[in-house]
Amino acid sequence: MDKCSFCGRTRDDVAMLFAGNKAFICNDCIENGYTIIEEYALEEKTKKFDNKKIKLYKPLEIKEFLDSYVIGQDAAKKTISVAVYNHFKRIQKSKDSELEIDKSNVIIVGPTGTGKTLMAQTIAKLLNVPFCIADATVLTEAGYVGEDVENILTRLLQVADYNVDAAEKGIVFIDEIDKIARKSDNPSITRDVSGEGVQQALLKLLEGTIVNVPPQGGRKHPEQKFIQVNTKNILFIAGGAFDGIEKRIAARLKHNVVGYKTSKDIAIDRDNMLQYVSHQDLKAYGLIPEIVGRLPVITYLEELDAAALRNILTEPKNAIIKQFVELFKLDGITLTFDDDALDAIVETAQELKIGARGLRSLVETVLNDAMFELPSNKSVKKLKITKEYAKDKLQKINANKLAN
Ligand code: ADP
Repeated sequence: MDKCSFCGRTRDDVAMLFAGNKAFICNDCIENGYTIIEEYALEEKTKKFDNKKIKLYKPLEIKEFLDSYVIGQDAAKKTISVAVYNHFKRIQKSKDSELEIDKSNVIIVGPTGTGKTLMAQTIAKLLNVPFCIADATVLTEAGYVGEDVENILTRLLQVADYNVDAAEKGIVFIDEIDKIARKSDNPSITRDVSGEGVQQALLKLLEGTIVNVPPQGGRKHPEQKFIQVNTKNILFIAGGAFDGIEKRIAARLKHNVVGYKTSKDIAIDRDNMLQYVSHQDLKAYGLIPEIVGRLPVITYLEELDAAALRNILTEPKNAIIKQFVELFKLDGITLTFDDDALDAIVETAQELKIGARGLRSLVETVLNDAMFELPSNKSVKKLKITKEYAKDKLQKINANKLAN
Protein backbone atom coordinates (compact mmCIF):
# COMPACT_ATOMS: atom_id res chain seq x y z
CA MET A 1 0.00 0.00 0.00
CA ASP A 2 1.41 3.44 -0.99
CA LYS A 3 2.02 5.70 2.01
CA CYS A 4 3.10 9.29 2.50
CA SER A 5 6.79 9.03 3.41
CA PHE A 6 6.38 11.99 5.80
CA CYS A 7 3.21 11.39 7.80
CA GLY A 8 2.72 7.73 7.03
CA ARG A 9 -0.93 7.99 5.99
CA THR A 10 -2.13 5.79 3.16
CA ARG A 11 -3.63 6.86 -0.14
CA ASP A 12 -7.12 6.32 1.27
CA ASP A 13 -6.51 8.69 4.19
CA VAL A 14 -5.43 11.69 2.16
CA ALA A 15 -6.88 13.75 -0.66
CA MET A 16 -3.82 13.38 -2.87
CA LEU A 17 -0.64 11.37 -2.81
CA PHE A 18 2.27 12.33 -5.06
CA ALA A 19 4.77 9.73 -6.10
CA GLY A 20 8.46 10.53 -6.38
CA ASN A 21 11.57 8.44 -6.71
CA LYS A 22 10.92 5.66 -4.14
CA ALA A 23 8.94 8.08 -1.97
CA PHE A 24 5.50 9.61 -1.63
CA ILE A 25 4.17 12.84 -0.26
CA CYS A 26 0.57 13.79 0.54
CA ASN A 27 -1.12 17.12 -0.07
CA ASP A 28 -1.18 17.95 3.65
CA CYS A 29 2.56 17.47 4.04
CA ILE A 30 3.19 19.64 0.99
CA GLU A 31 1.03 22.34 2.54
CA ASN A 32 2.80 22.09 5.89
CA GLY A 33 6.16 22.25 4.20
CA TYR A 34 5.08 25.26 2.19
CA THR A 35 3.96 27.11 5.33
CA ILE A 36 7.32 26.44 6.97
CA ILE A 37 9.15 27.76 3.90
CA GLU A 38 6.97 30.87 3.86
CA GLU A 39 7.58 31.55 7.54
CA TYR A 40 11.27 31.04 7.09
CA ALA A 41 11.33 33.39 4.12
CA LEU A 42 9.49 36.04 6.12
CA GLU A 43 11.95 35.66 8.98
CA GLU A 44 14.84 36.03 6.58
CA LYS A 45 13.19 39.08 5.09
CA THR A 46 12.78 40.76 8.47
CA LYS A 47 16.33 39.81 9.28
CA LYS A 48 17.32 41.58 6.08
CA PHE A 49 17.56 44.92 7.84
CA ASP A 50 18.38 43.58 11.26
CA ASN A 51 22.03 44.49 11.15
CA LYS A 52 22.26 46.86 14.06
CA LYS A 53 25.60 48.04 12.79
CA ILE A 54 25.59 49.32 9.26
CA LYS A 55 28.90 48.80 7.53
CA LEU A 56 30.70 52.10 7.29
CA TYR A 57 31.85 52.50 3.72
CA LYS A 58 34.51 55.06 2.91
CA PRO A 59 33.54 57.80 0.43
CA LEU A 60 35.77 56.26 -2.23
CA GLU A 61 34.06 52.88 -1.81
CA ILE A 62 30.64 54.50 -2.05
CA LYS A 63 31.66 56.34 -5.19
CA GLU A 64 32.99 53.14 -6.75
CA PHE A 65 29.72 51.36 -6.05
CA LEU A 66 27.78 54.27 -7.55
CA ASP A 67 30.02 54.09 -10.62
CA SER A 68 28.83 50.59 -11.41
CA TYR A 69 25.18 51.70 -11.58
CA VAL A 70 25.16 55.41 -12.40
CA ILE A 71 26.84 56.82 -15.49
CA GLY A 72 28.69 60.14 -15.25
CA GLN A 73 27.58 62.72 -12.65
CA ASP A 74 30.95 62.69 -10.94
CA ALA A 75 30.49 65.87 -8.96
CA ALA A 76 27.24 64.63 -7.44
CA LYS A 77 28.66 61.20 -6.74
CA LYS A 78 31.55 62.67 -4.76
CA THR A 79 29.39 65.05 -2.76
CA ILE A 80 26.85 62.38 -1.98
CA SER A 81 29.50 59.80 -1.06
CA VAL A 82 30.93 62.18 1.51
CA ALA A 83 27.48 63.11 2.84
CA VAL A 84 26.49 59.46 3.24
CA TYR A 85 29.79 58.61 4.90
CA ASN A 86 29.39 61.46 7.36
CA HIS A 87 25.78 60.58 8.00
CA PHE A 88 26.51 57.02 9.00
CA LYS A 89 29.62 58.03 10.93
CA ARG A 90 27.37 60.34 12.86
CA ILE A 91 24.90 57.53 13.61
CA GLN A 92 27.64 55.23 14.81
CA LYS A 93 29.43 57.85 16.84
CA SER A 94 29.65 56.83 20.48
CA LYS A 95 26.66 58.06 22.42
CA ASP A 96 28.70 59.54 25.28
CA SER A 97 30.31 62.14 23.12
CA GLU A 98 28.84 65.52 24.03
CA LEU A 99 29.06 67.04 20.62
CA GLU A 100 25.99 66.59 18.41
CA ILE A 101 26.85 66.35 14.76
CA ASP A 102 24.19 67.79 12.50
CA LYS A 103 22.49 65.64 9.94
CA SER A 104 23.70 65.92 6.38
CA ASN A 105 20.49 65.65 4.36
CA VAL A 106 21.10 66.15 0.67
CA ILE A 107 19.38 68.08 -2.09
CA ILE A 108 20.07 67.21 -5.72
CA VAL A 109 19.18 69.69 -8.42
CA GLY A 110 19.00 68.41 -11.96
CA PRO A 111 16.74 67.80 -14.95
CA THR A 112 14.39 64.82 -14.83
CA GLY A 113 15.77 61.48 -15.87
CA THR A 114 19.39 62.25 -15.09
CA GLY A 115 19.73 59.82 -12.20
CA LYS A 116 18.56 61.55 -9.01
CA THR A 117 16.36 58.67 -7.88
CA LEU A 118 18.82 56.12 -9.16
CA MET A 119 21.58 57.68 -7.08
CA ALA A 120 19.55 57.53 -3.85
CA GLN A 121 18.34 54.02 -4.65
CA THR A 122 21.87 52.79 -5.29
CA ILE A 123 23.15 54.18 -1.99
CA ALA A 124 20.37 52.36 -0.15
CA LYS A 125 21.25 49.18 -2.01
CA LEU A 126 24.89 49.43 -0.96
CA LEU A 127 24.11 50.10 2.68
CA ASN A 128 21.27 47.60 2.79
CA VAL A 129 18.98 49.99 4.61
CA PRO A 130 15.25 50.50 3.95
CA PHE A 131 14.62 52.95 1.15
CA CYS A 132 11.50 54.61 -0.14
CA ILE A 133 10.55 57.29 -2.62
CA ALA A 134 8.10 59.99 -1.66
CA ASP A 135 6.52 62.23 -4.25
CA ALA A 136 6.36 65.73 -2.82
CA THR A 137 3.60 66.74 -5.23
CA VAL A 138 0.96 64.57 -3.55
CA LEU A 139 1.73 65.86 -0.08
CA THR A 140 -0.50 68.37 1.61
CA GLU A 141 -0.76 69.92 4.99
CA ALA A 142 -2.55 67.76 7.55
CA GLY A 143 -6.29 68.07 7.19
CA TYR A 144 -6.33 68.85 3.48
CA VAL A 145 -7.10 66.50 0.63
CA GLY A 146 -3.96 64.63 -0.32
CA GLU A 147 -1.37 62.74 1.65
CA ASP A 148 -0.06 63.70 5.07
CA VAL A 149 3.71 63.85 5.29
CA GLU A 150 3.59 61.08 7.92
CA ASN A 151 2.64 58.70 5.13
CA ILE A 152 6.20 58.93 3.84
CA LEU A 153 7.25 57.11 6.97
CA THR A 154 4.47 54.56 6.56
CA ARG A 155 6.08 53.57 3.31
CA LEU A 156 9.51 53.35 4.91
CA LEU A 157 8.10 51.16 7.69
CA GLN A 158 6.47 48.90 5.15
CA VAL A 159 9.73 48.48 3.25
CA ALA A 160 11.43 47.68 6.56
CA ASP A 161 8.75 45.06 7.31
CA TYR A 162 7.74 47.19 10.29
CA ASN A 163 11.18 46.85 11.82
CA VAL A 164 11.21 50.32 13.45
CA ASP A 165 14.89 50.13 14.32
CA ALA A 166 15.80 49.56 10.68
CA ALA A 167 13.38 52.18 9.39
CA GLU A 168 14.94 54.75 11.70
CA LYS A 169 18.22 54.29 9.83
CA GLY A 170 16.66 54.27 6.39
CA ILE A 171 16.91 56.59 3.44
CA VAL A 172 13.98 58.58 2.06
CA PHE A 173 14.12 60.11 -1.38
CA ILE A 174 11.77 63.07 -1.71
CA ASP A 175 11.10 63.57 -5.39
CA GLU A 176 10.00 66.81 -7.02
CA ILE A 177 10.70 68.98 -4.01
CA ASP A 178 10.74 71.97 -6.36
CA LYS A 179 7.01 71.51 -6.93
CA ILE A 180 6.20 72.55 -3.35
CA ALA A 181 8.11 75.79 -3.72
CA ARG A 182 6.27 78.89 -2.69
CA LYS A 183 4.73 80.44 -5.74
CA SER A 184 6.13 83.88 -5.10
CA ASP A 185 8.95 85.26 -3.01
CA ASN A 186 6.54 87.19 -0.81
CA PRO A 187 4.59 85.10 1.65
CA SER A 188 1.05 85.54 0.44
CA ILE A 189 -2.01 86.29 2.52
CA THR A 190 -4.03 83.42 1.14
CA ARG A 191 -3.04 80.00 2.43
CA ASP A 192 -0.87 77.99 0.16
CA VAL A 193 -1.99 74.45 0.95
CA SER A 194 0.38 72.59 -1.28
CA GLY A 195 3.38 74.86 -1.04
CA GLU A 196 4.61 76.51 2.11
CA GLY A 197 2.31 74.51 4.38
CA VAL A 198 3.79 71.27 3.12
CA GLN A 199 7.27 72.63 3.49
CA GLN A 200 6.52 73.41 7.13
CA ALA A 201 5.20 69.89 7.69
CA LEU A 202 8.18 68.37 5.93
CA LEU A 203 10.54 70.46 7.98
CA LYS A 204 9.74 68.52 11.15
CA LEU A 205 10.68 65.24 9.49
CA LEU A 206 13.93 66.62 8.15
CA GLU A 207 14.93 68.12 11.48
CA GLY A 208 14.55 64.90 13.38
CA THR A 209 11.52 64.36 15.51
CA ILE A 210 9.33 61.58 16.81
CA VAL A 211 6.45 61.07 14.44
CA ASN A 212 3.25 59.13 15.03
CA VAL A 213 3.05 57.01 11.93
CA PRO A 214 -0.16 55.31 10.82
CA PRO A 215 1.09 51.78 9.99
CA GLN A 216 -1.43 51.32 7.18
CA GLY A 217 -1.07 54.90 5.99
CA GLY A 218 -3.81 57.21 4.89
CA ARG A 219 -6.74 58.43 6.91
CA LYS A 220 -9.01 55.57 5.98
CA HIS A 221 -8.19 53.49 9.02
CA PRO A 222 -8.86 55.77 11.97
CA GLU A 223 -8.77 52.83 14.37
CA GLN A 224 -5.16 51.91 13.62
CA LYS A 225 -2.59 52.29 16.37
CA PHE A 226 0.25 54.66 15.61
CA ILE A 227 3.84 53.52 15.52
CA GLN A 228 6.38 56.02 16.77
CA VAL A 229 9.29 56.63 14.47
CA ASN A 230 12.21 58.88 15.27
CA THR A 231 13.48 60.59 12.13
CA LYS A 232 16.72 61.77 13.72
CA ASN A 233 18.87 59.25 11.89
CA ILE A 234 16.88 58.93 8.68
CA LEU A 235 18.81 60.31 5.73
CA PHE A 236 16.64 62.47 3.50
CA ILE A 237 17.72 63.02 -0.06
CA ALA A 238 15.57 65.52 -1.91
CA GLY A 239 15.57 65.93 -5.65
CA GLY A 240 14.05 68.39 -8.05
CA ALA A 241 14.41 69.72 -11.58
CA PHE A 242 13.97 73.36 -10.50
CA ASP A 243 13.11 74.38 -14.04
CA GLY A 244 14.46 77.79 -14.84
CA ILE A 245 16.74 78.02 -11.81
CA GLU A 246 19.65 78.71 -14.17
CA LYS A 247 18.31 82.21 -14.65
CA ARG A 248 18.41 82.87 -10.93
CA ILE A 249 21.91 81.45 -10.68
CA ALA A 250 23.03 83.64 -13.55
CA ALA A 251 21.43 86.69 -11.98
CA ARG A 252 23.15 86.03 -8.66
CA LEU A 253 26.52 85.42 -10.29
CA LYS A 254 26.25 88.56 -12.30
CA HIS A 255 25.43 90.46 -9.17
CA ASN A 256 28.38 88.96 -7.31
CA VAL A 257 30.71 89.55 -10.16
CA VAL A 258 29.77 93.18 -10.32
CA GLY A 259 30.04 93.46 -6.57
CA TYR A 260 33.43 91.95 -6.02
CA LYS A 261 35.40 91.40 -9.16
CA THR A 262 35.41 92.47 -12.71
CA SER A 263 33.74 89.96 -14.98
CA LYS A 264 37.07 89.24 -16.66
CA ASP A 265 38.36 87.53 -13.52
CA ILE A 266 35.78 84.78 -13.49
CA ALA A 267 35.21 82.46 -16.36
CA ILE A 268 31.66 81.30 -16.04
CA ASP A 269 30.68 78.20 -17.94
CA ARG A 270 27.36 79.41 -19.28
CA ASP A 271 26.41 76.06 -20.74
CA ASN A 272 26.31 74.47 -17.36
CA MET A 273 24.98 76.97 -14.88
CA LEU A 274 23.70 74.29 -12.50
CA GLN A 275 27.22 73.61 -11.26
CA TYR A 276 27.08 76.96 -9.45
CA VAL A 277 23.77 76.27 -7.71
CA SER A 278 23.67 77.42 -4.11
CA HIS A 279 21.25 77.52 -1.19
CA GLN A 280 20.52 81.13 -2.04
CA ASP A 281 19.12 80.08 -5.41
CA LEU A 282 16.85 77.50 -3.79
CA LYS A 283 15.45 80.19 -1.52
CA ALA A 284 14.94 82.50 -4.45
CA TYR A 285 13.10 79.66 -6.15
CA GLY A 286 10.64 79.44 -3.28
CA LEU A 287 11.91 76.94 -0.75
CA ILE A 288 11.58 78.36 2.74
CA PRO A 289 14.90 79.14 4.44
CA GLU A 290 14.28 76.55 7.18
CA ILE A 291 13.92 73.74 4.63
CA VAL A 292 16.98 74.88 2.75
CA GLY A 293 18.86 74.94 6.06
CA ARG A 294 17.87 71.34 6.72
CA LEU A 295 19.25 70.20 3.39
CA PRO A 296 22.81 71.36 3.94
CA VAL A 297 24.44 69.27 1.24
CA ILE A 298 23.64 70.59 -2.21
CA THR A 299 24.71 69.07 -5.50
CA TYR A 300 23.64 69.00 -9.13
CA LEU A 301 23.23 66.55 -11.97
CA GLU A 302 24.08 67.32 -15.54
CA GLU A 303 21.91 66.83 -18.57
CA LEU A 304 23.00 63.53 -20.15
CA ASP A 305 24.65 63.86 -23.55
CA ALA A 306 24.65 61.26 -26.33
CA ALA A 307 27.76 59.53 -25.02
CA ALA A 308 26.25 59.21 -21.56
CA LEU A 309 22.96 57.87 -22.93
CA ARG A 310 24.89 55.37 -25.01
CA ASN A 311 26.77 54.21 -21.92
CA ILE A 312 23.57 53.91 -19.93
CA LEU A 313 22.29 51.42 -22.48
CA THR A 314 25.20 49.02 -22.06
CA GLU A 315 27.50 49.83 -19.14
CA PRO A 316 25.73 49.78 -15.76
CA LYS A 317 25.60 46.48 -13.87
CA ASN A 318 21.94 46.10 -14.71
CA ALA A 319 22.09 47.97 -18.02
CA ILE A 320 18.95 47.90 -20.18
CA ILE A 321 20.60 45.99 -23.04
CA LYS A 322 22.05 43.41 -20.63
CA GLN A 323 18.56 42.84 -19.26
CA PHE A 324 17.06 42.15 -22.69
CA VAL A 325 19.95 39.90 -23.67
CA GLU A 326 19.17 37.89 -20.54
CA LEU A 327 15.45 37.80 -21.37
CA PHE A 328 16.16 36.44 -24.84
CA LYS A 329 18.62 33.93 -23.44
CA LEU A 330 15.79 32.45 -21.40
CA ASP A 331 14.17 31.59 -24.73
CA GLY A 332 17.45 30.16 -26.03
CA ILE A 333 18.09 33.12 -28.35
CA THR A 334 21.36 35.04 -28.58
CA LEU A 335 20.54 38.73 -28.91
CA THR A 336 23.14 41.19 -30.18
CA PHE A 337 23.05 44.85 -31.18
CA ASP A 338 25.18 46.56 -33.81
CA ASP A 339 26.87 49.69 -32.51
CA ASP A 340 25.02 51.93 -34.94
CA ALA A 341 21.71 50.38 -33.89
CA LEU A 342 22.42 51.57 -30.34
CA ASP A 343 23.34 54.98 -31.75
CA ALA A 344 19.98 55.11 -33.51
CA ILE A 345 18.20 54.46 -30.22
CA VAL A 346 20.17 57.24 -28.52
CA GLU A 347 19.40 59.63 -31.37
CA THR A 348 15.70 58.93 -31.07
CA ALA A 349 15.83 59.49 -27.30
CA GLN A 350 17.44 62.85 -27.92
CA GLU A 351 15.03 63.81 -30.69
CA LEU A 352 12.06 63.01 -28.48
CA LYS A 353 13.76 64.72 -25.54
CA ILE A 354 12.97 61.81 -23.28
CA GLY A 355 16.48 61.32 -21.95
CA ALA A 356 17.51 58.24 -20.04
CA ARG A 357 14.02 57.69 -18.73
CA GLY A 358 12.78 56.84 -22.23
CA LEU A 359 15.62 54.56 -23.26
CA ARG A 360 13.95 51.48 -21.87
CA SER A 361 10.72 52.05 -23.78
CA LEU A 362 12.69 52.66 -26.97
CA VAL A 363 14.51 49.36 -26.62
CA GLU A 364 11.16 47.69 -25.87
CA THR A 365 9.77 49.20 -29.05
CA VAL A 366 12.66 47.90 -31.12
CA LEU A 367 12.36 44.41 -29.68
CA ASN A 368 8.62 44.13 -29.27
CA ASP A 369 7.84 42.28 -32.52
CA ALA A 370 10.71 39.88 -31.94
CA MET A 371 9.62 39.27 -28.36
CA PHE A 372 6.14 38.50 -29.66
CA GLU A 373 7.10 36.18 -32.48
CA LEU A 374 10.31 34.40 -31.56
CA PRO A 375 9.18 32.38 -28.52
CA SER A 376 6.91 30.41 -30.88
CA ASN A 377 9.55 30.06 -33.57
CA LYS A 378 11.91 27.27 -32.55
CA SER A 379 14.22 27.67 -35.57
CA VAL A 380 15.52 31.13 -34.61
CA LYS A 381 18.50 30.96 -32.28
CA LYS A 382 20.08 34.31 -33.00
CA LEU A 383 18.79 37.85 -33.36
CA LYS A 384 21.08 40.62 -34.49
CA ILE A 385 19.66 44.13 -34.31
CA THR A 386 21.07 46.23 -37.13
CA LYS A 387 20.69 49.95 -37.59
CA GLU A 388 18.08 49.41 -40.32
CA TYR A 389 16.04 47.05 -38.16
CA ALA A 390 16.15 49.46 -35.21
CA LYS A 391 15.22 52.49 -37.36
CA ASP A 392 12.34 50.65 -38.93
CA LYS A 393 10.82 49.80 -35.54
CA LEU A 394 11.58 53.21 -34.05
CA GLN A 395 9.72 54.94 -36.88
CA LYS A 396 6.50 53.52 -35.59
CA ILE A 397 6.78 55.22 -32.28
CA ASN A 398 3.98 57.32 -31.12
CA ALA A 399 5.98 60.16 -29.65
CA ASN A 400 3.14 61.27 -27.44
CA LYS A 401 2.85 57.89 -25.87
CA LEU A 402 6.50 57.89 -24.92
CA ALA A 403 6.51 61.41 -23.66
CA ASN A 404 3.95 60.41 -21.08
P1 ADP B 1 15.40 61.41 -11.97
O1 ADP B 1 15.13 60.94 -10.57
O2 ADP B 1 16.60 62.29 -12.07
O3 ADP B 1 14.21 62.01 -12.66
P2 ADP B 1 15.87 58.63 -12.48
O4 ADP B 1 16.98 58.38 -11.53
O5 ADP B 1 14.52 58.16 -12.05
O6 ADP B 1 15.78 60.17 -12.86
O7 ADP B 1 16.24 58.02 -13.90
C1 ADP B 1 15.31 57.36 -14.71
C2 ADP B 1 15.97 56.14 -15.34
O8 ADP B 1 16.92 56.55 -16.28
C3 ADP B 1 16.72 55.29 -14.33
O9 ADP B 1 15.97 54.23 -13.86
C4 ADP B 1 17.89 54.76 -15.14
O10 ADP B 1 17.53 53.61 -15.84
C5 ADP B 1 18.14 55.83 -16.14
N1 ADP B 1 19.21 56.76 -15.77
C6 ADP B 1 19.08 58.08 -15.57
N2 ADP B 1 20.24 58.66 -15.31
C7 ADP B 1 21.16 57.68 -15.32
C8 ADP B 1 22.58 57.66 -15.11
N3 ADP B 1 23.27 58.77 -14.84
N4 ADP B 1 23.19 56.46 -15.20
C9 ADP B 1 22.50 55.34 -15.47
N5 ADP B 1 21.18 55.30 -15.70
C10 ADP B 1 20.50 56.46 -15.62
